[in-house]
Amino acid sequence: MSDARSRDFSRRQFLQQLAGAAALVTLADWRLVAGEGTAGKAAVAQPWYQRALRWGQTNLTEIDVERFDTVWWREHWRRTAVQGVVINAGGIVAYYPTSVPLHRRAAHMNGRDLFGELTAAAHADGLAVFARMDSNRADATFYQAHPDWFARDANGEPYRATGLYVACVNSPYYHEHIPAILHEVATRYRPEGFTDNNWNGPMRDQPCFCGNCEQLFRARTGAAIPRQPDWNSPLYREWIRWNYERRTEIWEQFNHATRQAGGPECLWVGMMAGSQNWQARVFRDDREIYRRTELVMLDDQRRFDPEGFQHNGEIGARIRGVGGWDKVIPESMAMYHLTEHNFRLAAKPEPEVRLWFLEGVAGGVQPWWHHVGSDQQDRRMLQTAEPLWQWHRRNEAYLVHRRPRVTVGLVWSQRNMDFFGRDDGGAHVDDPWNGWMQALIRARIPYVPVHVDDLDREVGALGLKLLILPNLGAMSDPQVAAVRRFVAAGGNLLATGLSSLSDEWGEARDDFALADVLGVHLPPRHAFRDEPVRTRWAKRWTQTYLRLHPELRAGIPGPRSGDEPEIAGERHEVLRGFEQTDILAFGGMLEPLAVEPGGVVPLTFVPAVPTSPVESVWMHEPRTDIPGLVLRENAAGGRIAYLPADLDRRFARENLPDHGDLLANLVRWTSRGDIPLKVEGAGLIHCHLYQQSAPDRLVLHLVNLTNAGTWRTPVHELIAVGPFMVSVRFATRSKPENLVSLVSGERRTFEQTGEWVKFEVTRIVDHEVFVIS
Ligand SMILES: [Zn+2]
Repeated sequence: MSDARSRDFSRRQFLQQLAGAAALVTLADWRLVAGEGTAGKAAVAQPWYQRALRWGQTNLTEIDVERFDTVWWREHWRRTAVQGVVINAGGIVAYYPTSVPLHRRAAHMNGRDLFGELTAAAHADGLAVFARMDSNRADATFYQAHPDWFARDANGEPYRATGLYVACVNSPYYHEHIPAILHEVATRYRPEGFTDNNWNGPMRDQPCFCGNCEQLFRARTGAAIPRQPDWNSPLYREWIRWNYERRTEIWEQFNHATRQAGGPECLWVGMMAGSQNWQARVFRDDREIYRRTELVMLDDQRRFDPEGFQHNGEIGARIRGVGGWDKVIPESMAMYHLTEHNFRLAAKPEPEVRLWFLEGVAGGVQPWWHHVGSDQQDRRMLQTAEPLWQWHRRNEAYLVHRRPRVTVGLVWSQRNMDFFGRDDGGAHVDDPWNGWMQALIRARIPYVPVHVDDLDREVGALGLKLLILPNLGAMSDPQVAAVRRFVAAGGNLLATGLSSLSDEWGEARDDFALADVLGVHLPPRHAFRDEPVRTRWAKRWTQTYLRLHPELRAGIPGPRSGDEPEIAGERHEVLRGFEQTDILAFGGMLEPLAVEPGGVVPLTFVPAVPTSPVESVWMHEPRTDIPGLVLRENAAGGRIAYLPADLDRRFARENLPDHGDLLANLVRWTSRGDIPLKVEGAGLIHCHLYQQSAPDRLVLHLVNLTNAGTWRTPVHELIAVGPFMVSVRFATRSKPENLVSLVSGERRTFEQTGEWVKFEVTRIVDHEVFVIS
């Protein structure tokens, strides 16, 4: 679609959203919808936090007070079409002449009020402003004035980070000092809201034993704070819960402070991270907070090799699935180099930024460029954002207010990360999750992360046909009941590993809570119930295999050893593609399971084979009846697959194509092939399919991740792929008339057969986006 047309569309939609005279509210009138306007106007216009989609941030260093070039950066705001900016206000350092005691003013201020200047400039340019705070640390002067406001370890020593003292979340630092700053900034400068880099205080591995904490915990439990982590102790679990609750309470308290001072829409939104594992370690309760907040500021700037760009394509859906599909999620995207080591003053290679941006936007986040320091000597980083942010501006109508068109839900919960993952969340939770994420993306199967406590709502809203439990070990009885309801209504289920074995605290039940649904039971004293053993299994690799049934090698050319079984029957369709082999590499460990009648076992376990000396490298125990996979169909008409073999975790670790192919086969069989997208052609393409406004409009993103740098950041150059044959299933039988590319602006031809629209994509450099209407 041409720019003119897309702008025209965007304008039309905008006008429809405003009623009559209220349409005269211009985009520059942030104040009218940010708390100071008349109630009538605010009621019909979209609030600022839904309209400000594109963001920018020049994170101030202390020296910037002397050198900040306001004229240049205002021009950069305009060039990159941002609608909001994040401006440093206070916390560790104040960038305005604060009156709050001990709130240290930035060096070299010399009477300059940089925060005030930039906020006024942004407001004059029609931009929303987030006042940026960093509420976690203070200097020695502050510490000496209020030593009891800071976190202490078990020996009574204060925690320190980057030379500063870490504030205690239960002290007047959080009750009085930060609210005083919020009040001062909100009343004096009227920012639209506040964001905070590091608001959660001490992490899980920094338990605070200060007087305030000891007293509060004793009042709650009658006991002292546990000295050592012990996940099996109810007291330690209570300490974990108490810490989460306090962070959620801080969220409420700071919002109360900012709204009281700055009006009902003066939001305090902290910052959140994209990693489940990290969020657990800093006690930020994803579900509680995403449900509460009107907007999520996502600090998720860097690519980690095991998750790749794929993670950024997923994170928006994981947040919006909990917080609401129309929620705006600006994501901080570093324009500087950020990998294992940070070069904050050097430009990140442009292709790396580009793919991170495209995956994030395709997955549902909004862009927020980020620089550290106002004077950039590597000028390249100042050129990266403009074309990307301008593309976003031209096409924004298609990038928000949409729902994923999917049939597959991948189920998650933060409590599982806490109480099942415990100290090894990477092995128990991240790896199985990443294995599924990579397998689904690789197979071009659209999926959506679903929180286990939102199953009823999301299954209905999105029309999910298959739920995958990726080693979801810790499940409460109500969560198990929600899965049962789904299955009883004819839903299909695919569970791996230890799913449903433990209760919500990670304590193993006698059997899987879903044993009857899966048709599989755990014998007494099974290793899955033994925490040290299952953790060792999860972390280790062993040279084990899975045997495919029936075995076919008697009919395939190769050496004869005389032990080839006669070919008996046909293989199950989940083993399609493996006709030339009777074994698959595995790497994990299994023990016997009791399988109920009616279950099909197409894979069995082959125990460890010595890796050396080569004289010993043969199968000492070539076959067992230990199931690696159990399939069945139930009375409700659903298909059920249980995969005790941890191939999801193994795929994340070993990246063997067989594992990815088998996982994809399982999804296709279990979902009865009910998948609304087919993409044929070579390459690693992340496909995102959405339904928008009317059921008749679909938006399809194809992001090209085929790259020499896909598994090792950063990307050096883009590599084009194609052609692809794309088939998309429409929601209704209505006839689509238009197929338009939002990248080239061209109208394309297509074929329609029944519910399927089919077209060719000849070449993709970085991405393609198609609107079918
Ligand atoms: Zn404390």
